[in-house]
Amino acid sequence: MPKDVYVDQDECTSCGQCADNLPEVFAMDDDDLAYVVDGGNTAAGEDAIQEEIDQCPGECIHWKE
Ligand code: SF4
Repeated sequence: MPKDVYVDQDECTSCGQCADNLPEVFAMDDDDLAYVVDGGNTAAGEDAIQEEIDQCPGECIHWKE
């Protein structure tokens, strides 16, 4: 089972980095806040998603426990 990832939009700085790097997983909504696209949890490997988690300046991308 792939792990689920989510964005805590309260902390998102709207930098767009995750959507630029991994558009199959992340996109920006009308308020310029990142979200996980439908099916995004399985669209990329855990390592690629973990990289975005580690690089996110808002530290607001998390795995669901
Ligand atoms: S990298 Fe982090 S702060 Fe930047 S848009 Fe994505 S979720 Fe928001």
